[in-house]
Amino acid sequence: MPPTLLTSTRSRLIAVVSLVLVLAFLGTNLISLEISRQIMRENLLETELPLTGDNIYSEIQIDLVRPIFVSSLMANDSFLHDWIREGELHPKPMIRYLDTIRKRYDTFTAFFVSEATRRYYHFSGVPQVVSPDDPEDIWYFRAREMDAPYEINIDPNQAQDNKITIFINYRVMDDQGHFLGVTGVGLELDAVARIVERYRQLFDRTVYFVNADGLVTVHPDQSQVYRQTLGEIDGLEAIASDILGKDRGAFQVERGDQTILMTTRYIPELDWWLVVEATESDVMGNYQAGFLSNLLIGLCAIVITLIAVSLAINRYQRRLEQMATTDSLTGLANRQLFDDHMTRAIGRARRSGRPISLIMLDIDRFKSINDRHGHLAGDRVLSRIAKLALSTVRRSDIAARWGGEEFVILMENCPKAEAARVAEKLRAAIETLPVAETLGKTDADTPFPDEVLTASFGVSSRIPSRSADIEDDAHVTEALLADADAALYRAKSEGRNRVGG
Ligand code: GH3
Ligand code: MG
Ligand code: MG
Repeated sequence: MPPTLLTSTRSRLIAVVSLVLVLAFLGTNLISLEISRQIMRENLLETELPLTGDNIYSEIQIDLVRPIFVSSLMANDSFLHDWIREGELHPKPMIRYLDTIRKRYDTFTAFFVSEATRRYYHFSGVPQVVSPDDPEDIWYFRAREMDAPYEINIDPNQAQDNKITIFINYRVMDDQGHFLGVTGVGLELDAVARIVERYRQLFDRTVYFVNADGLVTVHPDQSQVYRQTLGEIDGLEAIASDILGKDRGAFQVERGDQTILMTTRYIPELDWWLVVEATESDVMGNYQAGFLSNLLIGLCAIVITLIAVSLAINRYQRRLEQMATTDSLTGLANRQLFDDHMTRAIGRARRSGRPISLIMLDIDRFKSINDRHGHLAGDRVLSRIAKLALSTVRRSDIAARWGGEEFVILMENCPKAEAARVAEKLRAAIETLPVAETLGKTDADTPFPDEVLTASFGVSSRIPSRSADIEDDAHVTEALLADADAALYRAKSEGRNRVGG
C-alpha cells in the first residue's frame, strides 16, 4: 500500500476510534449524571426538605412550650384569682408579682388586663386602661372573644434581626367559667432566627417564613422582611397562592438560570408558612465534581489509548513500508525503491546537468557456489557482498538488489571514471574476502581450498537532457541499464573478475 494511502487510513481509523470512545464515554457519564440528578431531586422534594420543615417546626414548638406554660400558670395562679376577687385594691402586689414572673422566666414583660376595670397591669409601674377604640388594644378585645384558651400574638413592629417578639395572651377564667381578664408574657423568640441562620450556614438551605397574607416575616436577607410578599419573590409569582392554599407543598421553580427545589409547611401556632429552599446546583455540586473528574480520567485514558494505537499503527506502517521497499535477504533497496530513487535522481540531474552513473555487479559463477556449498551458503555470500557494496559507496549512493546475484549501484553527481574507480575498489574487496568464512564454513570443511569469490562489473554514465520532452525518465533509465549490462557482458566475456566500461 502506498504510504499516503496508509496514512489517511490511519488517520481515519484513529478518528473513528476516538469518536467512538469519546461518545460512548460521554454518553454513559451524562446518563449517570442525569440519573443522579433525578434521584437527588426526588430525594430532596420527597424526603429531605419535608424533613427539614418538620425539624424546624418541632424546634419552634419546643421554644413556645415554656412561655405558654408560664402564661397558663399565671392564668390559674390563686394569687391572681384572690387579688381579683378582693377587688384589685392595691396595684403594688400585682406589679411585684408580674415583675417576679418576668425575672424568673427571663421574659421582657409580664402583664395582666382586668376585665372588671380594663386596667393593664405590667411589671413596671402605673397601670393603664385598655380601650376598644385604641387600635393598640385590639388584641385584648380579640382575646376576650376567642374560644381557644390562649393566642400567640406576633408583634411586627419589634421585628429585628429575625428575632420575633411574641405575646402569649392567656384568658383568665374563674371556677364558674367567668372571664376575668387576660394575662401572659411577652418575649423575644430567637429560635426562628437561629434556625434560619443555621440552615443557611450548615446546609445551604434558604429558610424563611411568610404570614397568612404572604408577607415575608423572617428571611436570611433582612431587607425583605415585612417588605416583600411571596408573589414578589423571583420564581414564585405563579405559585404564591398555591403555597398559602395548603398545609404542605413541594415545588420546583426556576430562578434565573437556577433550578430551585422547595417545600412549604404551615405553622399553626404562628399562623405562618415555613418555606425551605435548596438550589439544585449547590446540591449537584458534588455530583458535578465527580462527573468532571470522571471525565478527566476518561479523557486521559482515551488519549493514552489513542497514542498507543497510533504508535502501533506507525510501527506496523513502517514495517509494511520497509517490507515493500527492501530486499529481505540483503536489506538493500529492492527494484521498486531503486526505480523511485532513479526517477528523483534523474530529475535532479536534469536541473544540475551533472552525470548519473550506474554500476552493475554480477557474481561470477554463482551457480557453482550454490551447487558446491548449498543454497544457504549462497545466501550468505549474497548478504556479505551486499554489505561490502554498502560500505564501499557514498552515503548518497543507492545500492539495490537487481535480481538473483545481481546488484546495481546508483551514483548521483558522479562521472563514469569515478564510478569505475568505485567498481574497481569493490571488485578488489570481493576478491580478497575470506572465502570459507564468507560461506560460513571452517577451512577444513572447504573441499575447494583454492576457491575465490569474484564478481564482474559493468559501468555506465549519462547526463540526462534538461527537458523530459527530449528524453523521458524511462528512456534515461533504460539507456543507463542497457549500457551497464553491455559493459558487464563484456567483462564476463573478457574473463570475469573485472570492470567493463
Ligand atoms: P556467471 O559467472 O556467468 O554469472 O555465472 P553464474 O553461475 O553466476 O550465472 P547464472 O545466472 O547462470 O546463475 C545465477 C544463479 O544464482 C542461479 C540461481 O540458482 C542463483 N540464485 C539466484 N538467486 C539466488 C538466491 O537468492 N540465493 C541463492 N543461494 N542463489 C540464488
Ligand atoms: Mg547473473
Ligand atoms: Mg553470475
